[in-house]
Amino acid sequence: MGKKNEAVETVVDWDSLGYDGVSMTTKVDVTARIQRIYWRTLETKDDRLNSSSSLRVSMIQNGKILDREKRMSLCCLAQGKRNVCCEVQLCQDTLLNRTDWHEVLYQEGGVLYLSKLRLVEHKYRKRARQLFSLIDSLKTTRSGKQQSCFVFKFDEQTTVQRVSEDKMSDYPIYSSPQSLNNFNLDIGKHRVCFCGQLLHFKFTKDKYYNTKHVRLWLSGNISHDCAESGAEPTISVIQVCYSSGRTMEWNESTLLSGQLLSMQDLVFDKGKPTVLSADIFSKIQVIIPHSSQPDHDHVSRDLHEIWRRTMTRTMTDEEYSTLKCLPVAVLPDLNENCQEDGLVMCEGTISDVDHENAFCWYSCCRCTSEDISEVSSSKSQYHCNACALDFTSPTTNIHLEIYLTSRSVSISKVKVKLLQKTTKNLLSGSEKTERETYNVNSVLNKHLGPLHCYIAERAEDKNLKISFELEELDSSSWNK
Ligand SMILES: [Zn+2]
Repeated sequence: MGKKNEAVETVVDWDSLGYDGVSMTTKVDVTARIQRIYWRTLETKDDRLNSSSSLRVSMIQNGKILDREKRMSLCCLAQGKRNVCCEVQLCQDTLLNRTDWHEVLYQEGGVLYLSKLRLVEHKYRKRARQLFSLIDSLKTTRSGKQQSCFVFKFDEQTTVQRVSEDKMSDYPIYSSPQSLNNFNLDIGKHRVCFCGQLLHFKFTKDKYYNTKHVRLWLSGNISHDCAESGAEPTISVIQVCYSSGRTMEWNESTLLSGQLLSMQDLVFDKGKPTVLSADIFSKIQVIIPHSSQPDHDHVSRDLHEIWRRTMTRTMTDEEYSTLKCLPVAVLPDLNENCQEDGLVMCEGTISDVDHENAFCWYSCCRCTSEDISEVSSSKSQYHCNACALDFTSPTTNIHLEIYLTSRSVSISKVKVKLLQKTTKNLLSGSEKTERETYNVNSVLNKHLGPLHCYIAERAEDKNLKISFELEELDSSSWNK
C-alpha cells in the first residue's frame, strides 16, 4: 500500500479518454498518425510569480497585467484510430534538453507511440477556428465534424517510439499538403499548397494590433505542388498574418526576390479567391537543393537552428533545377482594367517628372548604408558609421518618379516610381551641375520599358478617367 499523499499516477490511453471529468494530472498514451508539424507561440504562466514578493504579486493583480511569457513550441497534429485529432506540444525546454523528439520532427506522415503525455487543454471549435479549419481539411471520411480537441504536452516523462510498419495501416492515411489540392470546389474554405518563385513582397503594419503582416506575390501553379505539370504558371497573392507563430522570422532581409518558396496549408476562401491567406498552421519554406543542404549529423542545441531546419524544404537537385527553370507567369500589360495590388508590365515615353518628389541622397560606396557623416576637418571627406570606411566619393542615390504617356484613352495618368538602376541609366550622360544635382528634365521624351511594376494605387476621376501609381520591381533575379 502506498502512502496516502504519494499521488498515484494514472496513465490512460487516449482512445479511452472521455471528454468529461478528465483530471489534468492524468497521463495519456497516444498512438497516432503525425499529420502536421508546425510552430506556435505559447503563452506560459510564469511560475516565478508564486515565489516572488507579495508586492510584485499585488502590482500584477492591481495592474491586471498578465504575467505571461511567450515561448516557441514545436507542435504536431496527430490523428488517432478513430480519425480524431489532438495536438502535442513540445516546449522550448524539451527541445533544448532532449533529443528523442527528433523522432517526431522527421515523422510527418508516420505513426508514433507517445507515452505519458500531460493533458494541458481541451480546445473547442469556437475558440480555435484556425486549428479546426486544419483538422477539417484533413478529414478523409464523411463522419461528423470533430467538436473539441485535446492538447497534450510532451514533458520530462514522455517517451516516443515509432510504430512498426505492419501496424501503421490501422491508422488514418497521411493527408499530405499535396493531397489537399484535389479539393472539392463546393467547399467554402479549404487548404492548398504549391511551390513558386517569389516576385514581390510588401510589409504592412496593422495599426490596431501593432502587428506586422506581409503580402507575397508568387509565380507558380496552384493546382500542382511542383514542376511536374506543363500548366502555365500564374501569379498567386498570399497574405501572411503575423499574429503568432514562427513566421515572425521573415523580414526584409530573409525574403529575396527570385527565391523559390514552398507554401503548404494555405487557406483558400471561395468568398475571396484572389488572395490566399497563411495562418499559423501554414508552412512557408525556402526550397534548397539537396547538394547545398547543410550537414545535419550533429544534433543542434540551438532553437533557431531547429527552426531554420524545419523552415527549409529540400528537393533533389533535379527537382530544384526544373522548378528554378520554370519561366515566371506572363504579366499583363497595363490597361484600364488592371486593379490595385496587381503586377503588370508597362512601357511608354516619359512625358513629365514629378519635380516635388525628385531628390538625391548619399550612401556609403562599400556597404550602401545611408548612415554617413561628412568629416568636418577636410572637404569632401566622408565617414560611414556602419562599416567605418573613410571615403571621398559617396554613392549618389536619386529618387525619381516619372509620368508615362499612355496609349489607352481611358487612362489619364501613369506615374512610376523608378528603381535606382533605371534612374541612373536614364540620367547617364546628363551632366551634374555645380550643386551636385542632376538635371532631371533630361529624361523627358525618352522611351522607358518594358518594366515590371506593382500597382500601388488606382484611382478614377469624375470623368471616369483612370490614373495609376506604379512602383518598378527589380526583376533581375526572376527567371524570364
Ligand atoms: Zn559603409
